[in-house]
Amino acid sequence: MSEFPATRQSALQRLEEFLAEAPHYAARRNYVLPGHSQVSRLSAAIRHRLITEAEVVEAALGKYPFRVVEKFLQEVLWRGYWKGWLEMHPRVWDHYGVSSSRPAGAGGPEVAAACREVAAGRSPSGLMNHFARELLETGYLHNHARMWWASYWIHHCGLPWELGAQHFFSHLLDADPASNTLGWRWVAGEQTRGKTYLATAQNIGKFCAPELLEQAGGTGLDEQVVARAGRADDPTVDDLSGLPDVPNEVGLLDPERRVALILHDEDLCLETSPVAPLRPAVVWQFVPEPELPRSEPRAQWLELARADAARRAGEHFGSEVRVCRNREEMIQACGAEKIDSVFIMEPFVGPLRDELGDFSAELMRREISLVGLRRKWDSVLLPQASRGFFPFWNKAGRMLAKSGAEGLS
Ligand SMILES: Cc1cc2nc3c(=O)[nH]c(=O)nc-3n(C[C@H](O)[C@H](O)[C@H](O)COP(=O)(O)OP(=O)(O)OC[C@H]3O[C@@H](n4cnc5c(N)ncnc54)[C@H](O)[C@@H]3O)c2cc1C
Repeated sequence: MSEFPATRQSALQRLEEFLAEAPHYAARRNYVLPGHSQVSRLSAAIRHRLITEAEVVEAALGKYPFRVVEKFLQEVLWRGYWKGWLEMHPRVWDHYGVSSSRPAGAGGPEVAAACREVAAGRSPSGLMNHFARELLETGYLHNHARMWWASYWIHHCGLPWELGAQHFFSHLLDADPASNTLGWRWVAGEQTRGKTYLATAQNIGKFCAPELLEQAGGTGLDEQVVARAGRADDPTVDDLSGLPDVPNEVGLLDPERRVALILHDEDLCLETSPVAPLRPAVVWQFVPEPELPRSEPRAQWLELARADAARRAGEHFGSEVRVCRNREEMIQACGAEKIDSVFIMEPFVGPLRDELGDFSAELMRREISLVGLRRKWDSVLLPQASRGFFPFWNKAGRMLAKSGAEGLS
């Protein structure tokens, strides 16, 4: 499990170790090698914000000039790009229901049976079976292996991308509503009009370690397969909805007001977040039951990360951290604790936000305010994701090259 850091301390340590190799990242990152030491394997820690993108960028730029680590920074910023894009196109999430037990495009029992075979590693391709098992056993796949496997699922096996995305979502330690849904849409040719990703034996032969290929008995890919065309007109991508203006500071607060704070899986480092100055009467760790069951490795990883976050939050705020499994529990606790305001790091589009639903209105009816806050990194960068990645990177990269992550953390 230490392979994929599940505590803040181990994530910071991994970052430090990885940075020694970071100048070689641009040349090596695309190779799929046993052990994956050429990439950071920090994605689960970053996704749940045991460490933040701002910290990763700051540490990289503290050690190297911008151009030496530019490719690494660019990859780190892909995450923010996808997050911002999905925030502005929330219907894409609502429509596909990737984290629900029955996503769009689910199909009949034969489709479900075919998906089960490929997902379990019982397909005609030895290499794809190897990746299928790696995902089930570890909860991680290298980016290139994710692209190959998703392409195999969609274009070679003719299976619906939504079910592949759902499979990833319950197994990846870093399962993220934006990076996962939009990564699958991109491979399927739905995200970028006219662009579809087809895995070929030639590309795999270049980037996959020969010993893996040999062990797996080759790619087993049918080279006659052509990519399926993405839908020309996607009904879920409507006009951009603007990003709501979420504050990134606590602001003036009447010291008499009794405050509760919600700790959740989208931000497991409250002591470095904008809510850090608060002195809450109580901290609730919100851990709702997911609709889509999580794999054992993912559930175990989350348990460790949550325990670490709760311990640090307890120490920082000098307050007990209590687990709440649903909104009703928090509402009852508000009454019992005589809470006036509840603070939360504003969740992004995804299952947690769906779960919270109209929590704000429910609190308001009881004359309790719900205050959402966002990290500066998100407030500044996410609204720039209205077009393609490269216009986004042009702005964000220029900002980082000029002043680093200063002012964004
Ligand atoms: C079909 C598909 C599904 C994916 N699903 C997810 C997902 O659910 N969660 C997730 O975090 N990433 C997802 N990715 C992106 C990417 O594969 C992983 O972030 C990356 O492989 C994680 O490994 P690493 O931490 O070693 O990355 P590194 O190469 O070390 O990169 C550093 C960090 O940059 C970010 N990053 C790198 N590449 C990407 C990318 N293409 N998109 C977004 N962020 C990136 C991650 O936070 C990563 O930890 C998906 C990609 C594809 C093709």
